[in-house]
Amino acid sequence: MHKNAKTIICSVVTTCIMLTSQLGAEAYGAAESGYIDEAVGVTETADENICRHRFSSWHFVKKPTCTKDGAKTRSCAICGEVESVKLNRLGHKFATKQVQPDFLHNGYSKHTCMRCGYVYKDTYVDKNILRAPKDLGYASQINSVKLSWSKVLYADGYRVFMYSGGKWRKVATVKSGSAYKIAGLKPGKYKFRVGAYVRQSGKIVSGKNAACTAVTKPKSVKLISAAAKKSTATVSWKAEDCSGYEVYIRHGANWKRVKTLAKGSKYKITGLKKATSYKVKVRAFFTDSDGARQYGEFSRTLNFKTKK
Ligand SMILES: [Zn+2]
Ligand SMILES: [Zn+2]
Repeated sequence: MHKNAKTIICSVVTTCIMLTSQLGAEAYGAAESGYIDEAVGVTETADENICRHRFSSWHFVKKPTCTKDGAKTRSCAICGEVESVKLNRLGHKFATKQVQPDFLHNGYSKHTCMRCGYVYKDTYVDKNILRAPKDLGYASQINSVKLSWSKVLYADGYRVFMYSGGKWRKVATVKSGSAYKIAGLKPGKYKFRVGAYVRQSGKIVSGKNAACTAVTKPKSVKLISAAAKKSTATVSWKAEDCSGYEVYIRHGANWKRVKTLAKGSKYKITGLKKATSYKVKVRAFFTDSDGARQYGEFSRTLNFKTKK
Protein backbone atom coordinates (compact mmCIF):
# COMPACT_ATOMS: atom_id res chain seq x y z
CA MET A 1 0.00 0.00 0.00
CA HIS A 2 1.26 3.45 -0.83
CA LYS A 3 2.33 5.48 2.14
CA ASN A 4 -0.02 8.27 1.17
CA ALA A 5 -3.00 6.05 0.75
CA LYS A 6 -5.70 6.79 3.19
CA THR A 7 -7.07 3.85 4.96
CA ILE A 8 -10.60 4.04 6.13
CA ILE A 9 -10.88 1.98 9.23
CA CYS A 10 -14.23 1.12 10.53
CA SER A 11 -14.09 1.33 14.26
CA VAL A 12 -17.58 2.30 15.13
CA VAL A 13 -20.16 -0.26 14.40
CA THR A 14 -23.81 0.40 14.56
CA THR A 15 -25.08 -3.00 13.61
CA CYS A 16 -23.26 -6.24 13.68
CA ILE A 17 -24.95 -9.54 13.37
CA MET A 18 -23.00 -12.63 14.07
CA LEU A 19 -24.05 -16.17 13.82
CA THR A 20 -21.97 -17.85 16.45
CA SER A 21 -22.51 -21.23 14.94
CA GLN A 22 -20.69 -20.07 11.83
CA LEU A 23 -17.99 -17.75 13.08
CA GLY A 24 -17.52 -18.42 16.74
CA ALA A 25 -17.90 -16.06 19.62
CA GLU A 26 -14.23 -15.13 19.80
CA ALA A 27 -14.54 -13.13 16.60
CA TYR A 28 -16.91 -10.83 18.30
CA GLY A 29 -15.30 -8.28 20.55
CA ALA A 30 -18.17 -6.67 22.29
CA ALA A 31 -17.83 -3.69 24.50
CA GLU A 32 -18.55 -4.12 28.14
CA SER A 33 -22.05 -2.95 27.73
CA GLY A 34 -22.78 -5.46 25.00
CA TYR A 35 -24.28 -8.85 25.48
CA ILE A 36 -24.39 -12.10 23.68
CA ASP A 37 -27.39 -14.11 22.83
CA GLU A 38 -25.89 -17.34 21.67
CA ALA A 39 -29.12 -18.74 20.42
CA VAL A 40 -30.16 -16.10 17.95
CA GLY A 41 -27.08 -13.96 17.47
CA VAL A 42 -26.57 -10.45 18.56
CA THR A 43 -28.27 -7.27 17.73
CA GLU A 44 -26.27 -4.36 18.99
CA THR A 45 -27.26 -0.76 18.65
CA ALA A 46 -24.92 0.97 21.05
CA ASP A 47 -22.15 3.11 19.48
CA GLU A 48 -19.56 1.92 21.88
CA ASN A 49 -19.80 -1.60 20.62
CA ILE A 50 -16.91 -2.41 18.28
CA CYS A 51 -16.75 -5.20 15.74
CA ARG A 52 -13.37 -6.85 15.54
CA HIS A 53 -13.74 -7.20 11.83
CA ARG A 54 -12.95 -10.32 9.99
CA PHE A 55 -12.09 -9.00 6.58
CA SER A 56 -12.03 -10.79 3.33
CA SER A 57 -8.87 -10.57 1.27
CA TRP A 58 -8.47 -7.39 -0.78
CA HIS A 59 -10.49 -7.05 -3.90
CA PHE A 60 -8.87 -4.80 -6.45
CA VAL A 61 -11.68 -2.73 -7.86
CA LYS A 62 -9.23 -0.95 -10.09
CA LYS A 63 -5.55 -1.63 -10.27
CA PRO A 64 -3.43 1.50 -10.23
CA THR A 65 -1.55 2.25 -13.41
CA CYS A 66 1.32 4.61 -14.13
CA THR A 67 -1.06 7.51 -14.55
CA LYS A 68 -4.34 6.57 -12.88
CA ASP A 69 -5.20 5.85 -9.29
CA GLY A 70 -6.65 2.51 -8.39
CA ALA A 71 -8.72 1.22 -5.52
CA LYS A 72 -9.16 -1.89 -3.46
CA THR A 73 -11.85 -2.95 -1.05
CA ARG A 74 -12.48 -5.61 1.48
CA SER A 75 -15.48 -6.31 3.53
CA CYS A 76 -16.03 -7.60 6.96
CA ALA A 77 -17.64 -11.00 6.99
CA ILE A 78 -19.11 -10.21 10.36
CA CYS A 79 -20.59 -6.75 10.02
CA GLY A 80 -20.46 -6.17 6.30
CA GLU A 81 -18.36 -3.06 6.75
CA VAL A 82 -16.60 -2.21 3.55
CA GLU A 83 -13.10 -0.83 3.73
CA SER A 84 -12.00 1.01 0.66
CA VAL A 85 -8.48 2.12 -0.05
CA LYS A 86 -7.34 4.41 -2.78
CA LEU A 87 -4.19 3.18 -4.49
CA ASN A 88 -2.12 6.06 -5.77
CA ARG A 89 -1.02 5.98 -9.35
CA LEU A 90 2.36 4.35 -9.68
CA GLY A 91 4.11 6.89 -11.86
CA HIS A 92 6.17 5.87 -14.83
CA LYS A 93 9.25 3.81 -14.35
CA PHE A 94 11.63 4.95 -17.03
CA ALA A 95 14.59 3.31 -18.62
CA THR A 96 16.70 5.83 -20.53
CA LYS A 97 18.63 5.15 -23.66
CA GLN A 98 20.91 7.57 -25.48
CA VAL A 99 20.20 7.63 -29.19
CA GLN A 100 23.22 8.98 -31.03
CA PRO A 101 22.73 11.55 -33.77
CA ASP A 102 23.46 10.57 -37.31
CA PHE A 103 23.43 12.48 -40.56
CA LEU A 104 19.68 12.27 -41.02
CA HIS A 105 18.42 12.53 -37.48
CA ASN A 106 19.07 14.40 -34.29
CA GLY A 107 20.30 12.48 -31.30
CA TYR A 108 18.28 12.43 -28.09
CA SER A 109 17.61 10.72 -24.81
CA LYS A 110 14.76 8.24 -25.12
CA HIS A 111 12.85 7.47 -21.96
CA THR A 112 10.63 4.42 -22.11
CA CYS A 113 8.34 3.38 -19.28
CA MET A 114 9.10 -0.22 -18.52
CA ARG A 115 5.58 -0.65 -17.18
CA CYS A 116 3.30 0.89 -19.79
CA GLY A 117 5.56 1.63 -22.74
CA TYR A 118 5.02 5.39 -22.69
CA VAL A 119 7.89 7.11 -24.45
CA TYR A 120 9.21 10.61 -24.37
CA LYS A 121 12.37 12.16 -25.74
CA ASP A 122 14.51 15.04 -24.62
CA THR A 123 18.05 16.38 -24.58
CA TYR A 124 18.28 16.69 -28.32
CA VAL A 125 21.65 16.80 -30.03
CA ASP A 126 21.97 18.24 -33.52
CA LYS A 127 22.41 15.79 -36.31
CA ASN A 128 25.91 15.24 -37.57
CA ILE A 129 27.11 17.55 -40.27
CA LEU A 130 29.45 16.59 -43.03
CA ARG A 131 31.60 19.61 -43.44
CA ALA A 132 33.03 20.86 -46.67
CA PRO A 133 36.54 19.59 -47.27
CA LYS A 134 39.14 22.05 -46.12
CA ASP A 135 42.37 22.93 -47.83
CA LEU A 136 41.20 21.97 -51.27
CA GLY A 137 44.22 22.49 -53.44
CA TYR A 138 45.74 21.09 -56.56
CA ALA A 139 48.89 20.26 -58.40
CA SER A 140 49.02 20.54 -62.15
CA GLN A 141 50.53 18.93 -65.14
CA ILE A 142 49.93 19.89 -68.76
CA ASN A 143 47.02 17.53 -69.17
CA SER A 144 45.94 16.89 -65.62
CA VAL A 145 45.00 18.42 -62.33
CA LYS A 146 45.43 16.50 -59.10
CA LEU A 147 43.08 17.75 -56.44
CA SER A 148 43.78 17.09 -52.79
CA TRP A 149 42.02 18.07 -49.60
CA SER A 150 41.92 17.42 -45.88
CA LYS A 151 39.86 14.47 -44.76
CA VAL A 152 36.39 15.18 -43.48
CA LEU A 153 35.24 13.67 -40.21
CA TYR A 154 32.80 10.77 -40.72
CA ALA A 155 33.20 10.75 -44.50
CA ASP A 156 32.79 7.43 -46.28
CA GLY A 157 34.12 8.98 -49.43
CA TYR A 158 34.13 12.02 -51.64
CA ARG A 159 32.62 13.04 -54.90
CA VAL A 160 34.45 15.21 -57.35
CA PHE A 161 32.56 17.42 -59.78
CA MET A 162 33.83 19.39 -62.71
CA TYR A 163 32.08 22.21 -64.50
CA SER A 164 31.94 21.51 -68.17
CA GLY A 165 29.49 22.04 -70.97
CA GLY A 166 27.54 24.50 -68.87
CA LYS A 167 26.89 22.24 -65.92
CA TRP A 168 28.41 20.37 -63.04
CA ARG A 169 29.27 16.80 -63.80
CA LYS A 170 30.51 14.18 -61.42
CA VAL A 171 33.90 12.99 -62.55
CA ALA A 172 34.81 10.67 -59.70
CA THR A 173 33.79 9.00 -56.48
CA VAL A 174 36.80 8.72 -54.23
CA LYS A 175 36.35 5.90 -51.73
CA SER A 176 39.75 5.96 -50.15
CA GLY A 177 42.23 8.73 -49.64
CA SER A 178 41.57 12.39 -50.13
CA ALA A 179 43.01 13.16 -53.54
CA TYR A 180 42.02 12.65 -57.12
CA LYS A 181 43.77 13.26 -60.40
CA ILE A 182 41.68 14.42 -63.32
CA ALA A 183 43.60 13.41 -66.39
CA GLY A 184 43.02 13.89 -70.08
CA LEU A 185 42.47 17.62 -69.82
CA LYS A 186 43.37 20.15 -72.40
CA PRO A 187 45.62 22.86 -71.01
CA GLY A 188 43.34 25.39 -69.40
CA LYS A 189 41.31 26.55 -66.44
CA TYR A 190 38.78 24.30 -64.72
CA LYS A 191 36.29 24.60 -61.91
CA PHE A 192 35.97 21.78 -59.42
CA ARG A 193 33.86 20.93 -56.44
CA VAL A 194 34.59 18.27 -53.88
CA GLY A 195 32.14 17.08 -51.27
CA ALA A 196 32.16 14.32 -48.70
CA TYR A 197 29.39 11.77 -48.38
CA VAL A 198 28.29 9.10 -45.96
CA ARG A 199 26.12 6.08 -46.54
CA GLN A 200 23.29 5.84 -44.11
CA SER A 201 20.21 3.65 -44.09
CA GLY A 202 20.76 2.87 -47.75
CA LYS A 203 21.00 6.52 -48.62
CA ILE A 204 23.85 8.72 -49.64
CA VAL A 205 24.02 11.81 -47.51
CA SER A 206 26.11 14.55 -49.04
CA GLY A 207 28.06 17.21 -47.23
CA LYS A 208 28.79 20.68 -48.39
CA ASN A 209 31.12 21.13 -51.30
CA ALA A 210 34.40 22.91 -51.36
CA ALA A 211 35.22 24.63 -54.62
CA CYS A 212 38.31 25.66 -56.44
CA THR A 213 39.37 26.82 -59.82
CA ALA A 214 42.41 24.93 -60.95
CA VAL A 215 44.57 25.46 -63.96
CA THR A 216 46.78 23.05 -65.78
CA LYS A 217 50.27 23.93 -66.76
CA PRO A 218 50.46 25.35 -70.26
CA LYS A 219 52.48 23.63 -72.91
CA SER A 220 56.10 24.46 -73.36
CA VAL A 221 56.47 27.52 -75.57
CA LYS A 222 57.95 26.96 -79.02
CA LEU A 223 60.34 29.78 -79.82
CA ILE A 224 60.47 30.71 -83.47
CA SER A 225 63.10 33.39 -83.72
CA ALA A 226 65.04 36.15 -82.03
CA ALA A 227 65.82 38.98 -84.45
CA ALA A 228 68.43 41.32 -83.00
CA LYS A 229 69.31 44.91 -83.81
CA LYS A 230 71.80 47.23 -82.07
CA SER A 231 69.95 47.60 -78.78
CA THR A 232 66.83 45.55 -79.32
CA ALA A 233 65.77 42.06 -80.21
CA THR A 234 62.35 40.82 -81.17
CA VAL A 235 61.62 37.33 -79.98
CA SER A 236 58.65 35.47 -81.42
CA TRP A 237 56.99 32.21 -80.54
CA LYS A 238 54.00 30.10 -81.30
CA ALA A 239 50.98 31.24 -79.35
CA GLU A 240 49.68 28.79 -76.77
CA ASP A 241 46.54 28.56 -74.71
CA CYS A 242 47.59 30.33 -71.52
CA SER A 243 47.07 33.36 -69.30
CA GLY A 244 50.38 34.97 -70.25
CA TYR A 245 54.08 34.65 -70.94
CA GLU A 246 57.32 35.49 -69.24
CA VAL A 247 60.37 36.43 -71.28
CA TYR A 248 63.83 35.83 -69.83
CA ILE A 249 67.22 36.85 -71.14
CA ARG A 250 70.68 35.98 -70.02
CA HIS A 251 73.90 37.89 -70.38
CA GLY A 252 76.52 36.58 -68.05
CA ALA A 253 75.71 34.29 -65.17
CA ASN A 254 72.03 34.82 -64.46
CA TRP A 255 68.72 34.63 -66.20
CA LYS A 256 66.65 37.76 -65.79
CA ARG A 257 62.98 38.19 -66.48
CA VAL A 258 62.50 41.18 -68.74
CA LYS A 259 58.80 41.00 -69.43
CA THR A 260 55.51 39.47 -68.42
CA LEU A 261 52.81 39.85 -71.02
CA ALA A 262 49.23 38.67 -71.09
CA LYS A 263 48.94 37.77 -74.71
CA GLY A 264 50.66 37.90 -78.05
CA SER A 265 53.33 35.84 -79.65
CA LYS A 266 56.24 38.22 -79.80
CA TYR A 267 58.07 40.74 -77.72
CA LYS A 268 60.62 43.41 -78.47
CA ILE A 269 63.37 43.39 -75.88
CA THR A 270 64.94 46.83 -75.47
CA GLY A 271 67.92 48.34 -73.68
CA LEU A 272 70.39 45.75 -74.87
CA LYS A 273 74.11 46.34 -75.23
CA LYS A 274 75.38 46.46 -78.76
CA ALA A 275 77.51 43.69 -80.17
CA THR A 276 76.69 41.45 -77.26
CA SER A 277 75.61 37.81 -77.10
CA TYR A 278 72.39 37.02 -75.30
CA LYS A 279 70.22 34.02 -74.66
CA VAL A 280 66.44 34.21 -74.56
CA LYS A 281 63.76 31.82 -73.40
CA VAL A 282 60.03 32.11 -72.80
CA ARG A 283 57.54 30.26 -70.69
CA ALA A 284 53.78 30.43 -70.53
CA PHE A 285 51.57 30.32 -67.46
CA PHE A 286 47.99 29.98 -66.38
CA THR A 287 46.71 32.10 -63.53
CA ASP A 288 44.18 30.48 -61.22
CA SER A 289 41.41 32.15 -59.26
CA ASP A 290 43.74 32.83 -56.35
CA GLY A 291 46.17 34.61 -58.64
CA ALA A 292 48.68 31.80 -58.43
CA ARG A 293 50.52 30.88 -61.61
CA GLN A 294 51.09 27.45 -62.99
CA TYR A 295 54.06 27.60 -65.31
CA GLY A 296 54.76 25.54 -68.34
CA GLU A 297 58.23 24.36 -69.16
CA PHE A 298 60.62 26.91 -70.54
CA SER A 299 61.07 27.00 -74.25
CA ARG A 300 64.35 25.99 -75.75
CA THR A 301 66.99 28.69 -75.51
CA LEU A 302 67.76 30.86 -78.52
CA ASN A 303 71.06 32.71 -78.86
CA PHE A 304 71.31 36.06 -80.53
CA LYS A 305 73.91 38.78 -80.81
CA THR A 306 73.13 42.46 -81.05
CA LYS A 307 74.62 44.43 -83.87
CA LYS A 308 77.55 46.79 -83.65
ZN1 LIG B 1 -17.21 -6.07 11.14
ZN1 LIG C 1 4.28 4.03 -17.41
